[in-house]
Amino acid sequence: MNNAQLFERAQQVIPGGVNSPVRAFRAVGGTPRFIARAQGACMWDAEGQKYIDYIGSWGPMILGHGHPAVLEAVLSAAREGFSYGAPTEREVELAEAIIAQVPSIEQVRLVSSGTEAGMSAIRLARGATGRSKIIKFEGCYHGHADALLVKAGSGLATFGHPTSAGVPAEVVQHTLVLEYNNLEQIEEAFRTQGAEIACVMIEPIAGNMNFVRAQVPFVKRIRELCDQHGALFVFDEVMTGFRVALGSAQSVFAKAIPGFKPDISVFGKVIGGGMPLAAFGTTRQIMQNLAPLGPVYQAGTLSGNPVATACGLATLKEISKPGFYEALGAKTQQLVAGLTLAARDAGIPFVGDSEGGMFGFFFTSELPQNYNVVMATDKERFNRFFHGMLDRGVYLAPALYEAGFVSAAHTDADIAATLDAARAVFATL
Ligand SMILES: *Cc1c(COP(=O)(O)O)cnc(C)c1O
Repeated sequence: MNNAQLFERAQQVIPGGVNSPVRAFRAVGGTPRFIARAQGACMWDAEGQKYIDYIGSWGPMILGHGHPAVLEAVLSAAREGFSYGAPTEREVELAEAIIAQVPSIEQVRLVSSGTEAGMSAIRLARGATGRSKIIKFEGCYHGHADALLVKAGSGLATFGHPTSAGVPAEVVQHTLVLEYNNLEQIEEAFRTQGAEIACVMIEPIAGNMNFVRAQVPFVKRIRELCDQHGALFVFDEVMTGFRVALGSAQSVFAKAIPGFKPDISVFGKVIGGGMPLAAFGTTRQIMQNLAPLGPVYQAGTLSGNPVATACGLATLKEISKPGFYEALGAKTQQLVAGLTLAARDAGIPFVGDSEGGMFGFFFTSELPQNYNVVMATDKERFNRFFHGMLDRGVYLAPALYEAGFVSAAHTDADIAATLDAARAVFATL
């Protein structure tokens, strides 16, 4: 069956034909590609068409697809059983491996998705502080837990309205949504309600509105405000964790803000290496609030799954090798610089940015600082670029509000082929 036939068939039995909305290509139009297999930096669809993959399963595939050491670890774990519902040594090893790279956390709990990790982190923050209110920022995605499915109305500091049907207004009445990188709004929120705020949750580099960095003074000030008011600072590193640096985005901020640490960190994507695995962690003291030690309940039948932990551990082992992030970062920079140059030669306004193996680009002349500015960039041009690249065998994220990912498997030839394609497409824009 070709992609169109598969999509037609899928829509009969799966709403919208997909199990996660962005895969349906609604933002860019056209027929989603049904992927048949992947190897290294490439994927092949049901029609045998090959693509250079810059989605990498939305981040996890930092080593590329089918890395031999990871594959071997997964196969050998599978032979020993898929799931036991009892503790294993590998869970301990993975927890140790995560903690070893992230000095702000002393303990982690493993779960199966970023959504679960984010939701549990909020419950822990509320349980540990005895407070209800949480602050999030417009354009940041923290999974689809009810309390987090909110965005602000008009860039004003306002208690959110649910962004999804099925979320009662009462469930989000404690969620305050502020503009990303807006110092005045966060000052005002703490001035008026500081004693009620359990936590501030942020994507330190927001990859769910393409690629927008939290500015250093903004992060520094949130840290101070949280400390002054007894609130916890939650870094959602589901996308950035082990993707932008071995020490995750918090290590990037610690370079600019000496001694900087968030209180709670949330991980997913890369730590599972493509298997359903995520985690949240913080100090031993705060983690003591979790069941079975404390009153904050949290559990999972498949949490710490033996095959998933094998995949995550083998992935972490590879990315911990000396020079891994230097090489990945240089390759990603080369891609973004090449795209920027090609666009400039074609006279097209274009800006890009990257950190480690994560990148973003916009059809505009200045890097956006918040969601409204991202949304004001040239969407039509992005969509034409996306389809032009897809037709030439380059698979970019199918929406302008998503980040892109380079893997260690991308070769110089892959980057060069991508830039050739981009030059050809820019000429048609
Ligand atoms: C992907 C993502 C999530 C949700 O993770 P899932 O595994 O899709 O549930 C949460 N936060 C951020 C920052 C993400 O990028």
